[in-house]
Amino acid sequence: MDDLEKIRSEINSVDERILEALASRRKLAEKIIQTKDQLGTPIRDEVREEHMLDTLIARGRRQGLDAHLVTRVFHEIIDDSIRSQQLHLLDYGKSALKRVAFQGIEGAYSELAGRKYFAPYLDQTVFVGVATMEQVVNAVEDGDADYGLLPVENTTAGSINEVYDLLSCAQLSIVGEEVLRIEHCLLALDEIPLSNIRQIYSHTQALAQCMKFVSKLPNCQPMPYADSAMAVIKVRDEKDPSLAAIASEEAGRLYGLKVLRRNVEDQQNNYTRYLVLAKKPATIDVRIPCKTSLIVATSHEEGSLLRALTLLHEYKINLSKLESRPIPGMPFQYIFYIDFEGNVAEERIAQAIEKLRSVTTSLKVLGSYPAQHRAKTSPKIESLAGGPPEPEPEPSEPVAQKKEAVSYKLASRQRKADDTVIAVRGVRIGGPGFVVIAGPCAVESREQIHKCARYVKECGGQLLRGGCFKPRTSPYSFQGLGFEGLEMLAEAGREYDLPVVTEVISPADVEPVARLADVLQIGARNMQNFSLLSEVGRSKRPVLLKRGMMSTMEEFLNAAEYILDRGNHQVILCERGIRTFETATRNTLDLGSIPILRSLTHLPIMVDPSHAAGRRDLVIPLALAAHAVGPHGLVVEIHPEPEKALSDGPQSLRFSDFADLMRRIYQT
Ligand code: PEP
Ligand code: MN
Repeated sequence: MDDLEKIRSEINSVDERILEALASRRKLAEKIIQTKDQLGTPIRDEVREEHMLDTLIARGRRQGLDAHLVTRVFHEIIDDSIRSQQLHLLDYGKSALKRVAFQGIEGAYSELAGRKYFAPYLDQTVFVGVATMEQVVNAVEDGDADYGLLPVENTTAGSINEVYDLLSCAQLSIVGEEVLRIEHCLLALDEIPLSNIRQIYSHTQALAQCMKFVSKLPNCQPMPYADSAMAVIKVRDEKDPSLAAIASEEAGRLYGLKVLRRNVEDQQNNYTRYLVLAKKPATIDVRIPCKTSLIVATSHEEGSLLRALTLLHEYKINLSKLESRPIPGMPFQYIFYIDFEGNVAEERIAQAIEKLRSVTTSLKVLGSYPAQHRAKTSPKIESLAGGPPEPEPEPSEPVAQKKEAVSYKLASRQRKADDTVIAVRGVRIGGPGFVVIAGPCAVESREQIHKCARYVKECGGQLLRGGCFKPRTSPYSFQGLGFEGLEMLAEAGREYDLPVVTEVISPADVEPVARLADVLQIGARNMQNFSLLSEVGRSKRPVLLKRGMMSTMEEFLNAAEYILDRGNHQVILCERGIRTFETATRNTLDLGSIPILRSLTHLPIMVDPSHAAGRRDLVIPLALAAHAVGPHGLVVEIHPEPEKALSDGPQSLRFSDFADLMRRIYQT
C-alpha cells in the first residue's frame, strides 16, 4: 500500500510539472504574439509547426513514446496557441472582464462551446446563462453582455432556423465561430437497466440527435425540455429512478447524475457550430484565414440567385454554406444566408460584396471572423503519404481505341473524364495521394483491434479495416463478432482518428452497419449479389467493391454500375486476385487490370495483395509491384499475432513487416 501511495504522489508531482510547463509555454506564446504583431509576421508558420512536430516525434520515440500520442498532445498545444493569437487580434485580453451570454444554464453545450472558444482567457470571462436565444441577442444589444453565443447548425439535426431568423433582425455582428463535438450521455439517478427508463428529458435538438437510440428503448417517451442541463436538474429533483436525461457528461457531473451510456447520438460525427456575436464588427487581421457571412434577398424572378452566385464565382470566392429561409409575410419568397472563405478587409472580397449589392434586393454583412476549421499540422510520415504524383495513365492502345458502346455507363470514362475523388473523413481516395487501408481480416477482440489501430496510425496508414461479418467458405469457420465487433472497430477508429472499413454481407445489415462504418465493403463472393449492391447503392457511405474471383473487367464495372445507378456515386474498386489454374498462390493477382481499369473508369482503384497471395512472404513483393502500376492505394491485412488469428493468419503481415512495407512505399 505504501508503495502505491509513493508512486501516486510521484505521478502527482509529474502532473504538476506538466501543468507548470503548459503555463510557461502559454506565456511564451503570448510574447511571440506581441513580437509577431510588431513585425507583421503571419499568425501561423506551418512549416515551423511541421518541423517542430517531426522533431518532437523523433525525441518522443527515443523516450519510448509513440508518434500518435505525441501528435495528439501537441495538436492540442498548438491549437491553444493559435486560439490565444486569434483572441489577441480581436483585442481580447487587453481590457477588463468580459461577459458572454449563452442560452441555458451551467453545463449546457453552449457554455461548453464558449469555454472552448475563450479557453486562453477564461480567467477574464464570465458566462451568463439566459432563458432563450432571443435573450442572448437582447443581452448583447443592450450591453448586458459583451459577446453572445448561439448554436447555428448541427451535423445530425441540421440548421437551427430560429437562429437564422434572429440573425436577420439583430443589430449584431458575427465575430467568431466555434465547432464543438457533441457527445451525448444518457444520465439517471442510479445505474438502472435501460429497459426501466420511462421518460427521457432533453432539449429538442438533443433528442433529435439521439432519435434512433431513444426509439429503441421499450415504453420510453422522449420529453422535450428547455435545455439539456436543465433536464439534468429536473431528473435529479424528481428523484424518480425511471427518469433519464440526455446531456453532456459535464452536466451530469455538475448536478450529480450517473452516466448510463455514453455516445447515444445517432451519428458518431456529431458536431455543432456556434456563432460568437458582438455589437461591433471585428476587424480581423488579413493574416488569419477568415469566413464571411452575408444575408441577401434576390428579386422574385428567374435566375436572380444564379446571378448572385455566379458573381461570387467570378471573384473566386469559395462558398462554405448556402441556406434559404422564407421571408415572413411574403409567401414563397426567400432570403439566403451565405458563408464563404474570405475577409471583408481584403480588397477582392470588399469589391465582390459591392458588386453583389447591384444584383440583390438587400444585403447585410453579418461579419468576418476567424474560420475554426484549421488544418492540423501533419508529421512527416503522414505528409509523405501524399507521395510522388501518380503516373498519368497512358491510354493503353487496344482499350483506348475500342470505341464501341460499353454496357456500363455511369462508371465509364466516357461519361466522366476526371478521376473521381472520394473523401472519407478527410482522407481523399482517388486523388494524387496513395492511401493505405490496413487491419486484421476479422475483429477478434477489443484489445486486438486497438493494437492494430494504434499500429496502423503509427505507421501512417489512413484507414482501419476489420471484418465483423465474415463470408467464410466453411460454415464451421469463425463467422465474425457481428455488431459487437463493429462497435469495437468503431471505437478503435474514434480513438486513433482512423475512418473504418468493414464488410457487409446482407441487405438488411446495410443500414445499421452504415451507422458505425465509414466505408462499406462488398466482398469478392458478393460482387454479383445484386440485391446487396442495390442496398449499398441507396446508402450514403462510400463502398469498397472487391472484384469477384471469376469476374471480367466488364462484369466488375457492371457491378459498380448497380451501385452508381441506385444513387451512390462513391464506389472504390479493389483488385484482390482472381482464380486461375495456378494453385501456388491463393489467387492470381491481376496487376494488368489496374492500368486497364484506369483507362476504362474514373472510379478510384485499390489493390489487395493479401487475399491474392494468401501467403505472408508474397504480400510485400506484390504490394510493391502493385504500387508500381498506378492504383490509388492498397488494402493489407495485418495481425498482432498471425499464428493465433481466427481467419487469414497465414497471409496477415506481422506489425514489423507492415512498418517495413510502409517505409518502402512512402520513401520511394
Ligand atoms: C476480406 O477483405 O476480408 C475478404 C473476405 O476479402 P475478399 O472478399 O476479397 O475475399
Ligand atoms: Mn481476410
